[in-house]
Amino acid sequence: MIKKVRPHPTQNEPLLFEISSPGKMGYQLPDLDVPSLDPIAALGAENTRSEIEDFPEVSEVDAIRHFTRLSTWNYAIDLGLYPLGSCSMKYNPRVNEAVARTDGLAWIHPYQPDSRSQGAMEITATLEAALAEITGMDAVTLQPAAGAQGEFTGLLLVRAWLQSLGNARRRVLVPDSAHGTNPATVHMAGYEVAHIASNARGMVDTAALERMVDQDVAALMLTNPNTVGVFEEQIGDIARILHAKDALLYMDGANMNALVGIARPGDFGVDVMHLNLHKTFSTPHGGGGPGSGPVAVKKFLEPFLPLPRLKRTDDGWRWDYDRPQSIGRVRAFYGNFGVLVRALAYIMAHGGDGLKRATLDALLNANYLRKLLEGCYEIAYDAPSMHECVFTDRRQAARGAPTGAIAKRLIDYGFHPYTVSFPLIVHGALMIEPTETESKLELDLFAEAMIDIANEIENDPKLVLKAPHSTRIAKVDEVAAARRPILKWRPPT
Ligand SMILES: *Cc1c(COP(=O)(O)O)cnc(C)c1O
Repeated sequence: MIKKVRPHPTQNEPLLFEISSPGKMGYQLPDLDVPSLDPIAALGAENTRSEIEDFPEVSEVDAIRHFTRLSTWNYAIDLGLYPLGSCSMKYNPRVNEAVARTDGLAWIHPYQPDSRSQGAMEITATLEAALAEITGMDAVTLQPAAGAQGEFTGLLLVRAWLQSLGNARRRVLVPDSAHGTNPATVHMAGYEVAHIASNARGMVDTAALERMVDQDVAALMLTNPNTVGVFEEQIGDIARILHAKDALLYMDGANMNALVGIARPGDFGVDVMHLNLHKTFSTPHGGGGPGSGPVAVKKFLEPFLPLPRLKRTDDGWRWDYDRPQSIGRVRAFYGNFGVLVRALAYIMAHGGDGLKRATLDALLNANYLRKLLEGCYEIAYDAPSMHECVFTDRRQAARGAPTGAIAKRLIDYGFHPYTVSFPLIVHGALMIEPTETESKLELDLFAEAMIDIANEIENDPKLVLKAPHSTRIAKVDEVAAARRPILKWRPPT
């Protein structure tokens, strides 16, 4: 079964199965100088594993090089700018990692009794209080494991509250610019989605909102700043229109990187919202988790929060399960604790002034890039940008190079692509979020790359269309990869 595949020095790495050679092994032990035992006779068949068919056999150096090569293909925030919009792919200071790995925190077990978990409970309570202060809300649950689960939890809270008034209602309004998780959440929470159009400046059309909100509408789910990077200037009116009909304002807080320390959703009428700690508050992301999606609510929703809640007693903290109106648990135990520790370390290291400074830098960086790129790329909406800027590929697509091609060409320049084709209301979107962690030098290099690509498209669009040129595999069949993935290796027949 030995296949002659030569590993490419950079990419096109064969599978371990493909470089397997019978008899190769990672280590060798000296011959036994004691009698050997049959493992099954010694341990019992139920405790021994049968041979795995076609298990790869490789040497130690084969295995080390294989995995080391794979690790070098990862584009990471530690390598350079990662400008994915709506993701807040910021550099996370190492000190927060060090804190999360402190023995007493890393090894704590959720089944430890309350009396032995007081430190962890204090951390949890302190983070809840910090997030309540940052958002201007009254109570926070740290249970949800990601933004999408926070959305789901939030809508269950809305439903439980409305139900307690006698009618859970039928519909939730979602702007046409919303992240895909919003309508999905609405369905999962048992509501119908009603789409609400944006106006010419990329904001919620308040006249349309006024017409749509009736006794069947439970809530509006709004991202603010929204997914075109624009702050909803009518947010006060939006809240008033909803509240006049006892409908609630849910805020998707994925873009809190634009607000922390400057504006508080609780002050502009939001009733319930989630945060993405893995975006805004210093947990590395992009690899699929773990994350954390705390939900913050106004006081009237607090009785419905997931079980259990922390309660301060004379003997310190304990978990309170006696909460008859709670929607129940949404996750095992108390949330992704390591992520919570990182978030609190980040918040405390910055302090109020530091968090505000970070937000201002994020806004400055996005607007600096916007200015540098405006000459080459068309901005999608003529409204001030917050922490990210959204362009359209109109000019470049007319020359035959749409946003996807520009993104692939960026790989040749050593940058991770920006967010492609989102939000859907912007045709051919290029969505760029530099975050506060980038220096002027890095932003200048990125802008230079984007401008070079725009010039290439003017002069030689084919060059850009064939990109990336620097990777072993230039283009994959994205449809086949999504629809017919090969998830299990089979030996060649
Ligand atoms: C990232 C994001 C979400 C989903 O958050 P996850 O943590 O990935 O589940 C929801 N809404 C917006 C606007 C986002 O950017």
